[in-house]
Amino acid sequence: MAYVVTLNCLGTKDRSCVEVCPVDCFYNIKKKEYNDKYARAPKGDDEGMLMINPDECIHCGACETECPVEAIFEDSGVPDNLKDFVALNAEQTTSLSDSELDAARCTSK
Ligand code: SF4
Ligand code: SF4
Repeated sequence: MAYVVTLNCLGTKDRSCVEVCPVDCFYNIKKKEYNDKYARAPKGDDEGMLMINPDECIHCGACETECPVEAIFEDSGVPDNLKDFVALNAEQTTSLSDSELDAARCTSK
């Protein structure tokens, strides 16, 4: 069980979630291909979106209410039209090497 970042983070990406995550399991997946695929303009030069590593998320729920655009859901409660993001969060974070994880990790500290 983990939480998942979905569509509305594209173009918003304000990192409110990062401030409350106790385990720093948000990663900056800086890929314009997602802005293009979902027709969401990047926020300035901040392309792509944040994603949650499901192997690290402790399912505390703190981030869900912090997101101003309701982009975060429990994996079991993701709306049907956003279900692709469950696999996307997992694929894009668990496939990274340790050094890539360190470079992409979002931290409030
Ligand atoms: S549910 Fe908790 S641990 Fe998981 S991403 Fe959100 S704040 Fe972090
Ligand atoms: S709070 Fe929401 S929009 Fe902001 S970075 Fe986190 S998931 Fe993206």
